[in-house]
Amino acid sequence: VDKDAAVTTTLWRVAIDTPLRRLFDYLPLEQDGAPVPGVPGMRVRVPFGRRSVVAVIVSLESESTAPEGRLRRASAMIDAQPVFDPALLALLTWAADYYHHAPGEVIAAALPRLAREGAPRTALTEWWLATAAGRAQHAAGEPRRAPRQRELLGRLAAAATGCAATELDAASPGWREAARALAGRGWALAQQQPEPGMTAAAAPTDAGPDAGLAATPAGPLAGGVGPAPELAAQQQSAVDAVVAAGDRFHAWLLHGITGSGKTEVYLRLAQRQLERGRRVLVLVPEIGLTPQLVARFAARFPTVPRAVLHSGLTDTQRLAAWREVIDGHARLVLGTRSAVFAPVPDLGLIVVDEEHDASFKQHDGGFRYSARDLAVVRAQALGVPVVLGSATPSLESLHNALAGRYTRLSLPRRAAHAQPPRLRLIDLRGESVHAGLSSTAVGAIERHLADAGQVLVYINRRGYAPTLACTACGWVAPCADCDARMTVHLSAGRLRCHHCGADRPLPNQCPQCGYAVRPVGQGTERVEASLAETFAGVPIARLDRDVVRHAAELEAVVDRVASGAARILVGTQMVTKGHDFPNVTLVVVLNADHGLFSTDFRAAERLAQTIVQVAGRAGRGDRPGEVLIQTEYPEHPLLAGLLAEGFDGFAERALEERRSAGWPPFSRLAALRASATTAEATLEFLAAARRAAGHVPAALRLLGPAPAALARRAGRHHAQLLVESTERAVLHRFLDRWLPTVEALPEARRTRWALDVDPLELF
Ligand SMILES: [Zn+2]
Ligand SMILES: [Zn+2]
Repeated sequence: VDKDAAVTTTLWRVAIDTPLRRLFDYLPLEQDGAPVPGVPGMRVRVPFGRRSVVAVIVSLESESTAPEGRLRRASAMIDAQPVFDPALLALLTWAADYYHHAPGEVIAAALPRLAREGAPRTALTEWWLATAAGRAQHAAGEPRRAPRQRELLGRLAAAATGCAATELDAASPGWREAARALAGRGWALAQQQPEPGMTAAAAPTDAGPDAGLAATPAGPLAGGVGPAPELAAQQQSAVDAVVAAGDRFHAWLLHGITGSGKTEVYLRLAQRQLERGRRVLVLVPEIGLTPQLVARFAARFPTVPRAVLHSGLTDTQRLAAWREVIDGHARLVLGTRSAVFAPVPDLGLIVVDEEHDASFKQHDGGFRYSARDLAVVRAQALGVPVVLGSATPSLESLHNALAGRYTRLSLPRRAAHAQPPRLRLIDLRGESVHAGLSSTAVGAIERHLADAGQVLVYINRRGYAPTLACTACGWVAPCADCDARMTVHLSAGRLRCHHCGADRPLPNQCPQCGYAVRPVGQGTERVEASLAETFAGVPIARLDRDVVRHAAELEAVVDRVASGAARILVGTQMVTKGHDFPNVTLVVVLNADHGLFSTDFRAAERLAQTIVQVAGRAGRGDRPGEVLIQTEYPEHPLLAGLLAEGFDGFAERALEERRSAGWPPFSRLAALRASATTAEATLEFLAAARRAAGHVPAALRLLGPAPAALARRAGRHHAQLLVESTERAVLHRFLDRWLPTVEALPEARRTRWALDVDPLELF
């Protein structure tokens, strides 16, 4: 030990999965009196309180802020090499900073649960070996009286590196009893070892000739690519632009109308990176709802090992997929929100499909982040291009393009001969309406069916009716735990709350006065029933969360429509997610009005996106589509603008409104959200938090506290305090100073609260 090393003790600064907003210092693990070298990104075990916990080394330090004698020593190494490379660790540290969240929880969010608990980075296999004594005994013909043990010992002694348990399972079923006996005699032993070569633990990839590719991991697309269509001129110029910008950071906003062929652009860009031996990360809003995108990547790159990461995986599957990613085996990684943290080595491209989709934002729980925004930060840190694609880009991304931070690529035309649909408003005030359908809409449906077309009817509510009301006294069925009404699910005979999941039998009569009750308003179930009545004999399919809970059920419905077996499709937002129904010639939007007068400044943007996405389902084949939008407010400027100028025109107007109102993207927001069992506790906490802010900078405003629009949900009262600033730096400096004081408030212990930076929903 030289004297320099003795003076500068290296400390491990580690992240621990706790809500505490800090890192912790530990003395390094010692082995034979010498410190074990630790590397940032490695998992270690440390004592924490009275427990032993898994921690991740974030940095090596020479000095600690903790008092000298109080430093504890790490107790074990978990990894021999880091599970986070420096760039990923930097991204997580940045995210903890930006979202003002406990770094330990941020880093934990980037690991599958089993890895958080210390599961090894590489899959371990159970191996059995003969010991030296065992070999000697075997040579002497032992054990003579136990033929099964003798046979097994022979097998183990003959294999230089031993035998995998799976091998033994196949070769001699029932071997374990003999193995235990041999182990008891000290003649054989079991070991957990990394499997030699690439792990075979399959992520949900198709069994392709993976092994061949794994042998030449940096090689080009050895297995070739699936059939690819010729690129249209607009696609070619988008691909050319990205390629010409080279392999460095650049954020591209690929704004392509529905049916314009965005996916083909992703595929070409991905192919280029795969050919160069680099890996590609594709983020999608919901795997279950975008099977077509995953299928297209699979068909184009049939032999490229891929990993698919989403919330439907079991813990074991998730760990296996993570291992496929971290060891570099998976060259194409597709996943939902948290896949933005996938430890993909040598990443060459990030794609975010449907970048406007709200599900990229984690909006509950502790760590609330935007996977889309972090994808851009990650690409920037890695110096690689990122492509954000959408038919209806978020106003944030459009603004970034206008400001020159992103480059916009437009695909304004549909592929092949498909024509964009014609949009028309139906003024409900002058119509006779039956079960939500105007006579004009019914007439149009008739016409399109007679013309061998298919019809899509969109309504944003599932269930039979949103309300059950008494015909005499005015009682409506409320949820006992929410400020909401129960939804009628007629075929199931239930009343259900869509906010908390409460579920009870449908009453036959009013519990208050005993008179008859009736469902009021429309949901998908009722619209389906009413269409079945009007169009007797026409097969109808329905697509919402009540009929589709699994990918297989979704596929069945999509197949029924795509094959033409169903002529009418009734559905919620689920119908907008990337399905291709080329024979749909008419789309009817039943209730466009819900987004027109909301208190949430983003409601109009959502409504416009939904209308454009639903409309995009019409006329994708070679027949032109027609879109009818039912409304009681045909003069509303949003609807009028959308119809006259399309999404671009709408976006221009909406951005202008945001600018004059000072809303994002022209300001930055953070919401301090709180909930408690009483409204008072929630509001008292937020009021105290506001007082704790003291004097705030001129460029910053505190708005609230105010109860949430749906204040009581599942028995808890929700409220929020908004922090708004035109300057991002001012906002973050304020949060840095303010949060520790909020945390220290006595009221903070009586409420559940979280900070939401760049909130998407102002409820
Ligand atoms: Zn009544
Ligand atoms: Zn409820």
